[in-house]
Amino acid sequence: MKSIVNQALLACLCKPSDSAIEVTNPATGEVLGSIPVQSRQEIDDALERSRQAQKEWQKTTAKERAVILKRWYDLLMANQDDLGRIMTMEQGKPLAEAKGEVAYGASFIEWFAEEGKRTYGDTIPGHTGDRRLMTIKQPVGVAAAITPWNFPIAMITRKAAPALAAGCSFVGKPAHQTPLSAYAVAELAYQAGVPRDVFQLVMHKSPQEVGDAFCKSEAVRKLSFTGSTRVGRILTAQCADTVKRVSMELGGNAPFVVFDDADLDAAVAGAIASKFRNAGQTCVCANRLYVHDAIYDQFMDKFIAAVGRLRMGNGLDEGVNVGPVIDQVAKHKILGLVDHAVSQGAKIAAGGTLQDGLFVEPTVLTDVEQSMDIVQEEIFGPVAPVIRFSSDEELITKANDTIYGLAAYFYSRDINRIWKVAESLEYGMVGINEGIISTEVAPFGGVKQSGFGREGAKEGIDEYLEVKYLCFGGI
Ligand code: ADP
Repeated sequence: MKSIVNQALLACLCKPSDSAIEVTNPATGEVLGSIPVQSRQEIDDALERSRQAQKEWQKTTAKERAVILKRWYDLLMANQDDLGRIMTMEQGKPLAEAKGEVAYGASFIEWFAEEGKRTYGDTIPGHTGDRRLMTIKQPVGVAAAITPWNFPIAMITRKAAPALAAGCSFVGKPAHQTPLSAYAVAELAYQAGVPRDVFQLVMHKSPQEVGDAFCKSEAVRKLSFTGSTRVGRILTAQCADTVKRVSMELGGNAPFVVFDDADLDAAVAGAIASKFRNAGQTCVCANRLYVHDAIYDQFMDKFIAAVGRLRMGNGLDEGVNVGPVIDQVAKHKILGLVDHAVSQGAKIAAGGTLQDGLFVEPTVLTDVEQSMDIVQEEIFGPVAPVIRFSSDEELITKANDTIYGLAAYFYSRDINRIWKVAESLEYGMVGINEGIISTEVAPFGGVKQSGFGREGAKEGIDEYLEVKYLCFGGI
């Protein structure tokens, strides 16, 4: 392994102890190392240092910050292979996907390095002759973030890059399952010139304790969370006491729809990519497939054949495209949903064989009903329940029949239908004839109980800025 990242890892690892978190490889069960954790007092101290550091950081120009961020971007890309390997080892996703995530994560740093220079205010035509009005944008202050294990790098950079570009300082808590990628990325930030107190990571044995420290702190003016809707609700409520700005990227339950006029080969390719990447463990993964009666058999033949070609295994091995799931809790939940669906009449059309360790075989379920738990809940695993439908109205009702509203996908070549369906879907993001839609240049985020706020794009930096109105009188 090359130097910088290796050094970073050695620096952050410690001996196993009560005050350390052990990181394991989900593909093999091997212990990769231990990360030291902080006490509550140390976390509170980190927040105070962040508050002090932010005052200086905001005095730098956007261009000076951009130069540092651009160096951080370059370092991530120069270390893409090593970072990818670390990620595959602690998270399980296939190496090609892990390297893809490094580039995706880095892209937010590059994007916001540029966007930081364009946080324009307005001049406003005055309401009386003797006044002149304008707005300026200023950093919110200390931004805190809590991130999940499914995108160990991108979920941190998607929050930290706009925060730093806007002139905020950043304190993040990575997921316990995947801290190594996060600490490696932090080390690269320092090498790029980000002051240590401007970008900090903290860990505690109890995630709740970190959440409590972030939410109670008056220094923290913004909390950005990516994770489950359950925890998002708790943190949103906890932030009320100090009236913080909050962004929530929560769970999803994405419908993936194949209409009768779809290009079926494209739909199969999109469904495979959307459903099985990261072993189905992304909040924008297709959760449930709806296939029109008229092309059901044709689509299913092709889809089941494509699922059969997926290779499950250790993500470091050549040719593997489905890795393990993250832990036993996840595996238990996924298999429980499959068993329950089968007990209610669903049929296993592909996969479904019990696997060793943390592996779950790519599985397709047919004869699925809308009311089944596997349709109503986020599966977060490589299992595709398929439901037939026969009319657009029925489809829209079923697709929107969920508390979630993150991503939806559909395949059609009829322009009138495309507009009507795209406008009717109650989701923050819609893929039309496309199964992979995330990019730093477009706004990522949900509606309903999938959360609020947008990440990436021109909108992303506004989450870390306050608008201040200036009224010049007596003119
Ligand atoms: P997942 O089911 O994907 O692990 P979670 O919402 O449980 O999603 O976890 C996402 C992040 O939130 C992780 O970093 C986790 O440690 C953290 N977390 C979990 N529970 C809490 C909590 N009560 N307060 C603060 N952070 C939490």
